[in-house]
Amino acid sequence: MKILEIKVVTVPIKSSISNAYIDFNKMTASVIAIITDVIRDGKQVIGYGFNSNGRYAPTSLLRERFIPRLLESDPDEILNDQGTNFDPHQIWNMLMTGEKPGGHGERSVAVGTLDMAVWDVVAKIEEKPLYQLLADRYRDGKPDEKVFVYAAGGYYQPQKGFAELQSEMRGYLDLGYSIVKMKIGGTSLEDDLRRIEAVLEVVPNGQSLAVDANGRFDLETAVQYAEQLEPYNLFWYEEAGDPLDYALQEELSKHYKNPMATGENLFSMQDARNLIRYGGMRPDRDYLQFDCALSYGLVEYMRILDMLNDYGWSSRRCIPHGGHQMSLNIAAGLGLGGNESYPGVFEPFGGFADDIPVEDGYVRLPDVPGIGFETKSGLRKLLYSVADEKHKTLF
Ligand SMILES: [Mg+2]
Repeated sequence: MKILEIKVVTVPIKSSISNAYIDFNKMTASVIAIITDVIRDGKQVIGYGFNSNGRYAPTSLLRERFIPRLLESDPDEILNDQGTNFDPHQIWNMLMTGEKPGGHGERSVAVGTLDMAVWDVVAKIEEKPLYQLLADRYRDGKPDEKVFVYAAGGYYQPQKGFAELQSEMRGYLDLGYSIVKMKIGGTSLEDDLRRIEAVLEVVPNGQSLAVDANGRFDLETAVQYAEQLEPYNLFWYEEAGDPLDYALQEELSKHYKNPMATGENLFSMQDARNLIRYGGMRPDRDYLQFDCALSYGLVEYMRILDMLNDYGWSSRRCIPHGGHQMSLNIAAGLGLGGNESYPGVFEPFGGFADDIPVEDGYVRLPDVPGIGFETKSGLRKLLYSVADEKHKTLF
């Protein structure tokens, strides 16, 4: 049993949307295909992975460092004890050989992308959906039957007024979502409050709406927003300040009694632990959004879950960033609180199985081996083209 080849290409996921910090006009993603010599159901097992949106494609890191390191490893050292499957933990150790601690930077994205493809391979070899494999290995064998998902949108876009914002949000409710999210911090406080009130006219109440500042605010602005937001009783107030400014988050928690959320830009267990230690996050109401596909993958994410457990946090407080099926599988398999979703944005990576609708704010998972990428036709087409790719770049 061995890995024969690993292909990686860079693809655009550009869009005209903006949050408070960046626009996505030049956003890219790396897509990986791990080709093995294992045959299941008459076909060669190929695992796929891609990096989550918000960080650029780490293709050079993958090509120059991580893929060669994995391909040069002793094939037996990356298998489980019985030699019946690849071992993601062993592979992770191999990938991180020669890497100093700290300074996680973009390498966590590269490793997270490879890790996703590794788990896809492992579940396909066991001929199980990844959520079932995770539930079998790490829980009582019973995955959650459905996962809470919310619609993340409400971006700033040219020529997007209140009416367009309202119709976008109505569209998410029509698709079956019960909670929607919008961006704040890209305009004045007064303007944002008008945008929020426009959305509150079309959703049932404040608990149906979350807001996301994408780390834009200094403490003073974060507190000003907190004071204005609190009466709306929103679902959450997300990433008010710089993701690494734990003191800001801690101080802000004294000024806002309703739920807050953050963590999508913390890329390691150590960074996540610092948030828990120093960020004033409250385990009875706040949410944690670490995204495995940006932060060293599921192997590292399990370390984060263990850390959270040590600090008295339930895994149900985790609702990962990213809107991809990897986190959806983790949510169902390991018992998280839910998953993000971006209907119609970041295609073909965002969203879930084509034929499974969101109902009352929840989505079910397909019963297919692996992560389930092949159940999304647009994504399947792209992934197959990467596996067949000769020239190793699509643009
Ligand atoms: Mg966010």
